[in-house]
Amino acid sequence: MKRIYTQEANKHIGEQVKLCGWVATKRDHGKIIFIDLRDKKGIVQVVTEDNQDIGKIKIESVIEVIGRVKERPSHLKNSTSPTGGVEVEAVSVNVLSIADDLPFAIEKDKNDVAEEIRLKYRYLDLRRTKMRNNLHSRAKTIQFLREYLCKEDFTEVETPYLSKSTPEGARDYLVPSRLQNGYFYALPQSPQQYKQLLMVAGLERYFQVVRCFRDEDTRGDRQAEFTQLDIEMSFIENEEDVLELVEDMFTKLIEKVFPEKHVTFRKWPRIPYSEAINKYGSDKPDLRKNKQDPNELAFAFVVDFPMFEKTETGKLTAVHHPFTAPKITDISELKNNTMQIKAKQFDFVLNGYEVGGGSIRTHDPAILTAVFEVLGHTKEDIKRQFGHLLQAFRYGVPPHGGIAPGIDRIVMLLQNEPNIREVIAFPKTGDGRDLTMDAPSTVSEAQLDELGIRSIDKKEKKDRIK
Ligand code: ASP
Repeated sequence: MKRIYTQEANKHIGEQVKLCGWVATKRDHGKIIFIDLRDKKGIVQVVTEDNQDIGKIKIESVIEVIGRVKERPSHLKNSTSPTGGVEVEAVSVNVLSIADDLPFAIEKDKNDVAEEIRLKYRYLDLRRTKMRNNLHSRAKTIQFLREYLCKEDFTEVETPYLSKSTPEGARDYLVPSRLQNGYFYALPQSPQQYKQLLMVAGLERYFQVVRCFRDEDTRGDRQAEFTQLDIEMSFIENEEDVLELVEDMFTKLIEKVFPEKHVTFRKWPRIPYSEAINKYGSDKPDLRKNKQDPNELAFAFVVDFPMFEKTETGKLTAVHHPFTAPKITDISELKNNTMQIKAKQFDFVLNGYEVGGGSIRTHDPAILTAVFEVLGHTKEDIKRQFGHLLQAFRYGVPPHGGIAPGIDRIVMLLQNEPNIREVIAFPKTGDGRDLTMDAPSTVSEAQLDELGIRSIDKKEKKDRIK
């Protein structure tokens, strides 16, 4: 017999069906036991006569039920549940897997359980309706964006994770090479250079749902690894070409996947950086009309950023990244007027969060080299770090630009969650640990030997630095 989902029970009144799932609750009424059976779609009530097996099993055990779907008498109907009008009278109940005592109750409010415990037992935490909905919404969002871009003639291309450092302003995660002892890959902070190389390759319109790795101190809306919808387009004339694509794509996403939401501005404002700072005191202003309304979405773009800024230590860096095109008419401005130069950069903001950033890129190798020089790179350094890109740009590069909306943050806001961990299946803690798998962890001496690496403890390291 083919299994049906709990939510399909309504369509099978009077028929015998097979259901599989978890025992969400069990109410023992002497001779009769009521079970709320949960599967991926929801819950349905099962009624069974007591028998040794069922009486004994703990909740969250996995069972298979064969039974007849019955309409409940009207006074027993439960209008709060989509299957509250029916119940399944079990003919047989087969226990597929017995659950132990649980570390926490599944349907209890997630805020009542310490996050460390939720993350350690994430596979149980994800059984909760709310968490399951978050994952479903995330999947639907990605599916919509993917279909939209494919229809618009974008090609999805996977770029390597084992790669070389590319500057996005964070520390790299390094991976030691066994075959090239003493050498390291860097996990990409973004596929920025690869996507630009794909423009040189003639792809013209690229996208990728891609993981990015940045070793920074994690905060509420940051993770060591996070997902971007990375986009790059050739032969675009100006920033508007990218902004219009993003505006149309996300407007349609909301209409189709999140119809309960409403957008504050039909045409999203483009706010110059200086105006954002002066008027709102932030480069990611919250433009909602009613901040109490969980369904309001105030999308906007911030444009006209400065090209360079100084870090706390006084070092010059690019506000976005060095590949962003500066708004200059002459290359000499880079050296003579450095701090006044604006960039062809745009940030994508939503309800007070930066949810993406992008730019028109510099495709002239002379200007790109000058930008690296202004940033303090030596000639050798430029060649070593960016030689491949500069060389590629000598073989015919189309003008290009792109953007990378952050999937985690956007889904977090669409699901009204307070942090991105709620919309990531297996997120890391604030200090970068994966509690489900217990990572990072030590490795064997043999593995280190193969990599040509010796582990030293902190004390020894201190000694060595001295
Ligand atoms: N690579 C950039 C980032 O990760 C996005 C872009 O400029 O397209 O922020």
